[in-house]
Amino acid sequence: MSGRAGIVVTGTEVLTGRVVDRNGPWCSERLRELGIDHESTVVVGDRPADILAALRWLAAEGCSILITSGGLGPTEDDLTATVVGEFQGRPMVVDEPLHASIKAILARLTARWPNVDQKSIAAGNLKQATIPEGATILEPIGTAPGLVVPPLDGSDNPTVVVLPGPPSELIPMWAAAVETEAFVSVTAGRRTIEQSMLRLFGIPESEIAATLRSARDSGIDIDALEITTCLRRGEIEVVTRFAPDQQVLYDSFAQFVADEYPEALFSIDGTTVDYQLAELLKASPPLTIALAESCTGGLVAARLTELPGASAYFRGGLVVYSNEAKSRLAGVPEELIAEHGAVSEEVAVALAAGARKALNADLGVGVTGIAGPDGGTEEKPVGLVWCAASLSSGEHAVRKLQLPGSRQVIRDRTTTVVMHLAAGLLRSSGR
Ligand code: ATP
Ligand code: MG
Repeated sequence: MSGRAGIVVTGTEVLTGRVVDRNGPWCSERLRELGIDHESTVVVGDRPADILAALRWLAAEGCSILITSGGLGPTEDDLTATVVGEFQGRPMVVDEPLHASIKAILARLTARWPNVDQKSIAAGNLKQATIPEGATILEPIGTAPGLVVPPLDGSDNPTVVVLPGPPSELIPMWAAAVETEAFVSVTAGRRTIEQSMLRLFGIPESEIAATLRSARDSGIDIDALEITTCLRRGEIEVVTRFAPDQQVLYDSFAQFVADEYPEALFSIDGTTVDYQLAELLKASPPLTIALAESCTGGLVAARLTELPGASAYFRGGLVVYSNEAKSRLAGVPEELIAEHGAVSEEVAVALAAGARKALNADLGVGVTGIAGPDGGTEEKPVGLVWCAASLSSGEHAVRKLQLPGSRQVIRDRTTTVVMHLAAGLLRSSGR
């Protein structure tokens, strides 16, 4: 047994990107917790030949367990069970107890729809109760049962765990799936694979590559750790997976990074800057925050309010694009805009202070910039953004940015900078 797993995510809507795959990553995390090495996720459309090819490829790669998501519904295009039957060489048979239990579920569901076509309901019912012979049934959460389909005796095929597509059905069904013999036989004796994340801000990704090299040179056996770095929303995430007995090694690697980047390393436990800013605001005595956004048009407000409980500290945000709005709503003096221009350090600071006062908050944040693609000048090119944060004590912080990239990237990066600026000001004020 290799103990490796493969995932086949089915659905043309996922393949084309209309629906973002949530099942593959979710199952991958659960496999890691079980200590099972997840080899690949293959995404295929609702075409039986492609689903079959994906199963065969992962089997040939040496996976001892395969998980499929989707295609278990009552309709014609839901074909996963049949394909898995073919893959295992097991004929499709109607499971009568399952037929009856799905019928009872359907009766409850359709009670509210008296005009529903009973014939097609019955056909769907029969289809969902038709399963590969010898499969173990996982009780339906919706109407679709999950299946665990073992190989025929003498075959070295992997076992296939067949789960429904809607995450609200797949997630609760997982608990039953992992208790099946198929899972237990691959997980026996395994230990969870640890995963830790460091987050850094304010250094280029190339720095991290250099740091990994110097960590190795200094004698840290980083090859025994599985380290991946990824640039996301202007931050660097360093994710490390390791066996539990490598904890000491991991700790020395994390310490090495901390020593190299005392400023840039802002999270050693994977927490986001959004979370950290929220915690800083909630600390005693609690503080409130208000915004005046040009350029980001409310994106900072959206980011701040993503965390539950944000209303405890988020007073509100002004979206002020015209000069008139900046003056009337955020109290930026007209003369200041006339003298320095709307995109300037002075106006960013005035927006921050103005938002704070207008919304009666302790901390104000102001953003003004040129997101492009038009509107840039030689003096103030596209990507120039000023951000400011201002406390009622009078302390404030300002950042000038010259960001590359598209309008969307510029606006998004700016929100990250603003979160760090606000958190940094609170920390330097003694929070
Ligand atoms: P149903 O009985 O709902 O048809 P099913 O098992 O046949 O269930 P699918 O038809 O493949 O599942 O998917 C149904 C819906 O579930 C999709 O339209 C999509 O909204 C959601 N879904 C399916 N797969 C995924 C996925 N990998 N990630 C996120 N959502 C998904
Ligand atoms: Mg379906």
